[in-house]
Amino acid sequence: MSGEMRATNGELREKVAGLLAAGQVRVFLGYRAGRTPLRVRPHHVLGPEQADDLVWNEFCAPSLAKYLLDEQEDEGRVGVLVKACDLRATRRLVADRRLDRERVLLVGVACPGMVDARKVESLHPGPIVEAGVRDGKLVLQTSTGEVKELPREEYLLDRCLHCEDPNPRDVDLVVGPEVAPRPARTRDYAEVAEILAMPLAERAAYWDRQFSRCVRCFACRNVCPACSCRECCFDVWEPMWLSREVSVSEQYMFHFTRAFHVAGRCVDCGECERVCPVGIPLMKLNRALQKEIQELFGVERPWDPDEKEPLAMYAPGDPDFH
Ligand code: SF4
Ligand code: SF4
Repeated sequence: MSGEMRATNGELREKVAGLLAAGQVRVFLGYRAGRTPLRVRPHHVLGPEQADDLVWNEFCAPSLAKYLLDEQEDEGRVGVLVKACDLRATRRLVADRRLDRERVLLVGVACPGMVDARKVESLHPGPIVEAGVRDGKLVLQTSTGEVKELPREEYLLDRCLHCEDPNPRDVDLVVGPEVAPRPARTRDYAEVAEILAMPLAERAAYWDRQFSRCVRCFACRNVCPACSCRECCFDVWEPMWLSREVSVSEQYMFHFTRAFHVAGRCVDCGECERVCPVGIPLMKLNRALQKEIQELFGVERPWDPDEKEPLAMYAPGDPDFH
């Protein structure tokens, strides 16, 4: 953890304890240490004394936005720690009228870029007993005592490489200093072009292979801020839109429905792909739809909840009106 992050931890704990002690929030959603050094867990802080377990480090990748929906079921205001990408997720929930902005206290934290635990684990298998960032390097210590120093930039989440501004704006409170934006990678949709360049049969075989690995755990849906219907069509029995049968056609039914449901509303947070236990490249589908929306409707930044939503709008004179 960098020196700045260490200082931010102290500030965060102090401010959250103060908010809870003053009754300004009923609960605060942040992170606590995980079971392995590469991961953190959500921490629902209910009293000032629990604020000491809060952590802020380079592994705080998960978005806490969806937890707000459950928390909002109870009385009172909910505090939440948000990175810039998490803020887009909360704005999505507000735009969809699922979240009452007045009942949320957003505590923003500037983000230096989050480490992709899966990238680390796939390239450095075996137990890691300590992990952190020192002098811009990702430092890992294995169970045999070996210390590895790795170029941090190569292990960041894909979404961090495209981040335009790592400083959350228009929040209620900020902890820690601002972070200088790194030069964001241009969205060239190379991953989409690669798929579209495949002959049709090869493309179909590619998605058959990917979707057949899906265990339909629904983690991708559950984490998604654009998937927040009170009752999901995949959970109802009558009519049964998706049978329990494990077949390629049912997998397509689930994945295409999910992708089209979020088309034009996806905030490009990458959480669906990050949480998928079998590593299905869902962002390729999401990005393909983003690209279509840019090209067909001239929406410059379809991942921004403030942009127009062409698939959810009525326009007099629409040539496809029926
Ligand atoms: S998270 Fe992955 S395995 Fe689970 S339903 Fe989504 S795509 Fe399928
Ligand atoms: S579809 Fe994936 S990337 Fe898009 S908002 Fe949902 S979780 Fe985020």
